[in-house]
Amino acid sequence: MPPIRTTFHALADRYDGFLLDAYGTLVHGSGVYPGAAEALHLLDRMGKRWLMLTNDASKLSVRASDRYQSMGLPITPGHIVNPLMLLPDLFASRALVGARCRVLGPPDSCTYVTQAGGVVAALDDPAFDVLVVCDESGYPFLETLDATLTDLAHLFAAGRRPVLLLPNPDLTFTKDAHRLGFAAGTLARMLSEGLHARFPDRPAADFAFQPLGKPHPPMYARALDLLSTRNVVVLGDQLATDIRGGQDAGLATALVTWGVSQWRDQQRADVVPDWLVESW
Ligand SMILES: [Mg+2]
Repeated sequence: MPPIRTTFHALADRYDGFLLDAYGTLVHGSGVYPGAAEALHLLDRMGKRWLMLTNDASKLSVRASDRYQSMGLPITPGHIVNPLMLLPDLFASRALVGARCRVLGPPDSCTYVTQAGGVVAALDDPAFDVLVVCDESGYPFLETLDATLTDLAHLFAAGRRPVLLLPNPDLTFTKDAHRLGFAAGTLARMLSEGLHARFPDRPAADFAFQPLGKPHPPMYARALDLLSTRNVVVLGDQLATDIRGGQDAGLATALVTWGVSQWRDQQRADVVPDWLVESW
């Protein structure tokens, strides 16, 4: 079944809860898409529940909401679900509270790890139990990647099995209309490949990171807990993350057509959204 073209207003009437992507959906590198702020105000006026699901693992939600509000969007910290918010449950369930953690990311990423019960180690401290790859910013890039590969190789050679966590599994991000950047998922792949090259006889699974963000289930489970309704539609601009993740969570999905993923009517795709929305 191909997706059905509809309007945001029709979706607002039909559903009780809304999970909204940020970049490519509400905002782009240099501002807000036309009508996005009015769409959020409409949901508020209608008494609908809505959250913004982001894979950004580099900012405290208070800082992110300040930024969105300065752009004119009525997004409070309570509207934001990011993958670092999943760390407290994860650290508790995997008995990682008190574990020494190397964190690749800016200071806000470290704050989340500390709040989850991890002990953030200095980047030049070779002894750690957990590696959390949050973001590509906040540290000297190549030096830190090289040192982390080296330290991981020594840990594995010594028979240790450091836990490898990847809050933001995105491979790239859109800086602006013409520029791309590498995101944390690519860094994790570099480290996994580097370790696999170093230890070719070990199964690749030994060096696999545990991903947390979209399209993986934990983010959607957390968001549904917060929304307290199952009559939910996911709106996003990427088939492989927003739409796939929403479908895996059993939710209705709407692809917005002004972001990364385009839709052609004869398209053969393994992920087909329920709805297409062409403007806010
Ligand atoms: Mg997006």
